[in-house]
Amino acid sequence: MSELLLHRVRRQLETLKLTTARERLDEHLQRAAQRELSHLDVLDSLLGDELALRAERGLVTRTKLAHFPTLKSLDTFDIDAQPSLDRKALTELRNMAFIERAENVVLLGPPGVGKTHLAIGLGLRAVQAGYRTYFVTAQDLLDLIRIAQLDGIPGHKQRHLVNVPLLIIDEIGYVQFDRPAATWLFQLIERRYERHSTIVTSNKSFADWSDILGDTTMAGALLDRLLHHSHVLNLKGESYRLRKRKGGASASTP
Ligand code: ADP
Ligand code: MG
Repeated sequence: MSELLLHRVRRQLETLKLTTARERLDEHLQRAAQRELSHLDVLDSLLGDELALRAERGLVTRTKLAHFPTLKSLDTFDIDAQPSLDRKALTELRNMAFIERAENVVLLGPPGVGKTHLAIGLGLRAVQAGYRTYFVTAQDLLDLIRIAQLDGIPGHKQRHLVNVPLLIIDEIGYVQFDRPAATWLFQLIERRYERHSTIVTSNKSFADWSDILGDTTMAGALLDRLLHHSHVLNLKGESYRLRKRKGGASASTP
């Protein structure tokens, strides 16, 4: 009789796709019998296991889907090597409230000062906090737009760029946008405006964005949306890579 019941519970867990609970049912029941645990204890530990494994799998999946070029953590960012960084602003960003408030982050500075590292670090933290995140470079966006011009825009891809809770656009400034591409980028930022967060990194100051986008009005309109609710972090100094090579990356390096 109880074998029948056990069989039914297993089937029910399978049907409900509670696979971890299904796999660990016998183990939990045995433990409960040995330690005289209550039914509620069994349910609690069984569902707890299921949720823990789901959270872990979700994290792995979100990390994969984020397309980070490398994994960088905020914890490995040597803040003393970057005296120009606004520490208070970074501390505030770490708590991820900016994503809840659909605010943007703009990281500006010359090559090698840690813009991409910080963008990925924030992205990884977002992924760990449960937010879907997607990393692209400006070049990736241009490639996408070109493919779209040839084949028609792949709708799901565009929807993903518009709707993902945190979008990271790295390296605006290294590649030139032509007019259709600049319009497309503007529309992307416009559609995300006040709905979702975007992190942008650039080696160019805002005054140079007219050249990058090939259009002063468009650049103005884009920056207007991007900067309305935003945290702008200016990073200065020499490339961290070069300083490392010279053996001099330290807080005292100007
Ligand atoms: P950027 O995007 O500004 O050109 P990156 O973020 O790619 O620079 O940094 C270049 C390299 O130096 C990366 O490997 C990055 O991890 C490292 N780096 C830069 N700044 C720091 C820092 N303050 N602490 C630790 N590593 C850093
Ligand atoms: Mg970079």
